[in-house]
Amino acid sequence: MPIEVEFLGGGQEVGRLGILLKHSGSKLLFDYGMTATDPPSYPMPCPPVDILFLTHSHLDHCGMIPWLTARYDINVVSTAISREIGILLMDDSVKIGAAEGYPEPYTSKDIKIARGKFDEISFGDTVNVGKMQVVAHSAGHIPGATMYELRGRRSTLVTGDLHTLDTRLVTGARPVKCDNLIMESTYSGRNHPPRSKTEYALLKKVEEVTRRGGTALIPSFAVGRTQEILLLMKDSKYEYWLDGMGRSVNKIYQRFPEYIRSPKRLRQAINRMNEVRNFRARSRAMKADVIITTSGMLDGGPVLSYIDSLRDDPKSAILLTGYQVEGSNGRKLIETGMMDFKGVSERVQCEVMKFDFSAHAGHDELLAFAKGCSPEKIVLMHGDQREILAGDLRAEGFEVLLPKNGEKFTL
Ligand SMILES: [Zn+2]
Repeated sequence: MPIEVEFLGGGQEVGRLGILLKHSGSKLLFDYGMTATDPPSYPMPCPPVDILFLTHSHLDHCGMIPWLTARYDINVVSTAISREIGILLMDDSVKIGAAEGYPEPYTSKDIKIARGKFDEISFGDTVNVGKMQVVAHSAGHIPGATMYELRGRRSTLVTGDLHTLDTRLVTGARPVKCDNLIMESTYSGRNHPPRSKTEYALLKKVEEVTRRGGTALIPSFAVGRTQEILLLMKDSKYEYWLDGMGRSVNKIYQRFPEYIRSPKRLRQAINRMNEVRNFRARSRAMKADVIITTSGMLDGGPVLSYIDSLRDDPKSAILLTGYQVEGSNGRKLIETGMMDFKGVSERVQCEVMKFDFSAHAGHDELLAFAKGCSPEKIVLMHGDQREILAGDLRAEGFEVLLPKNGEKFTL
């Protein structure tokens, strides 16, 4: 019996993922997220499903879970670390929504309901759904990130976000043999420079900025990227401060050391950092070498007040460390040199640079991963330029599908 698939979001775009899978009477959903742009964008409304599998807790994968669990009495299968991070992000998105005056897709009460629906798994565990067994594997991307392998007559692997190389924070994912591969393709057509080169370039730039008397402001996603940067700064000579939600994520990460590549190093990095706990500390941080803070795409969080203070200072620099999604404030800054402060577009005079600390597999790594899984069919998702990778995969003899959101197809 074939599997019917439909993307409710996140097909031809990076963000708001929702993958609906129907197989012999069972309806499974993989991820249900929102894109945290200003204002946020949401996937299509999900019809009733039997179960949700969460790959990891970035908002574009988990952000709409409370909407779902408020409507349907279903379990949310996830690693414990993803559950804790997910709840933190959902709480935060409700707060942001209230502050910005967005119509809320759900309330704090819905998040409480969602929390009670989580069904905790570890890597290697199997969940039975109808005639299928669903096995959890590490996806590398961030601590606790999971790929799901559906075993039936034919097997299907859903990667979620994927990284195959080891970083300072997590070890990379390994291919899983399958018949159908549903794989992310954020970096289709693009390769990352070697991580060691990126780390060296960032440290060099920080040295230059501090030598000229400026502050290096490093906007970082709270989940994963912040800890990666902390691990890098731990071995440097700089005084570094952390502000924003990354502080809460640190606490959660330390509770689940089994998902961290080196819990000891992470502890050292956290112990050596200075934490911005109150407003006074913020002005002290402003005089330090390095400030690491959220949000990574400049769409809110303490980073805005730091940039507001530093933006006319040519000695200081904003050193971006992540993907800047279309429509984000960070993308606007890179493309125009302007960004929004409370709805007003203003010029930023200080230096702006971008460093590739991606937690996603690059083009060649995706290609190698797909070959390692040796599937018959490959569905590329979660990418805005999928054709390039599709071309290379077809040249290797794979059948490749590039479904759009809302388009039903079978595997
Ligand atoms: Zn992610």
